[in-house]
Amino acid sequence: MKRIKAKIVEHKKLAPAIYSIWLQAGVIAGIIKPGQFVMLTLDECFEPFLARPLSVADTNRDKLRLIYRVVGKGTRLLQDKKTGESLYVLGPLGKPVKPVKNKKIVLCAGGLGIAPLLFLAKKLSKNNKLTLYFGARTKRELILLDEFMPLCEKISLATDDGSQGKKGLVTDLLIKQLIPNPQPPTTIIFAAGPLPMLQKISNFQFPISNLKLFGFLEERMGCGCGICFGCGVKKKDNGYVRTCTDGPVFDLNEIEL
Ligand SMILES: Cc1cc2nc3c(=O)[nH]c(=O)nc-3n(C[C@H](O)[C@H](O)[C@H](O)COP(=O)(O)OP(=O)(O)OC[C@H]3O[C@@H](n4cnc5c(N)ncnc54)[C@H](O)[C@@H]3O)c2cc1C
Repeated sequence: MKRIKAKIVEHKKLAPAIYSIWLQAGVIAGIIKPGQFVMLTLDECFEPFLARPLSVADTNRDKLRLIYRVVGKGTRLLQDKKTGESLYVLGPLGKPVKPVKNKKIVLCAGGLGIAPLLFLAKKLSKNNKLTLYFGARTKRELILLDEFMPLCEKISLATDDGSQGKKGLVTDLLIKQLIPNPQPPTTIIFAAGPLPMLQKISNFQFPISNLKLFGFLEERMGCGCGICFGCGVKKKDNGYVRTCTDGPVFDLNEIEL
């Protein structure tokens, strides 16, 4: 784990209140893997005080890409940062997703959950067959589709307002399309998005034996590296795990959401 000063090399708007930022992040960009995240601090004045966690959406040699939605103080200040300015990046944090081969990979993204799935899709598409289910509030928030197209055999879309794809929830689309068709026993679902989406997928009884089901959790966190215990999640058997050091990607059969 390193903390570095990272220069912004590109910062652009993808949709209303949604931005993509490429950072010159040296050694962190070189070693970070899908599933891991970084903590961002905007400057040395500690404003806002706590660093903010963001997933990695992509890397390219010494560059790191983050995609974020403006929701509060930290992300509002981040959106004003210009190309050439610097940020402080702590990482890599969390556990990487274990690489797999010859599987059917089903990616299910809700909103900004699409960001960490892009990095994962780029890695897994070399040795696996990928399908993407992606739901957003509206057509303009169905970001990154052109980047997923070469990586996935099939893409199914849903929007809350019906402006593109099926009107309604992506979870309904996933369940409706996946269930009636026999799935290979090697199917793995990776889901990333808001908690209700993960809860719905986690609680659904998929008629596929030994289905592997992983979720990217976005618990609020303080330190990002296991010290503050602010991001604890209850395990189904007993005890707690920390989203930052034991996750943020968990087997959804093992934790309580
Ligand atoms: C491991 C991890 C990876 C993440 N990856 C991404 C990503 O790739 N892109 C992205 O846009 N966001 C991501 N998030 C969420 C992101 O960290 C928060 O949106 C961000 O910290 C908000 O900071 P803020 O100062 O703008 O908002 P604040 O002022 O801190 O909060 C504003 C509002 O957002 C809510 N909020 C803040 N943090 C979270 C959270 N973690 N989950 C749900 N609601 C929250 C608050 O309850 C409040 O309503 C991730 C979170 C985690 C833990």
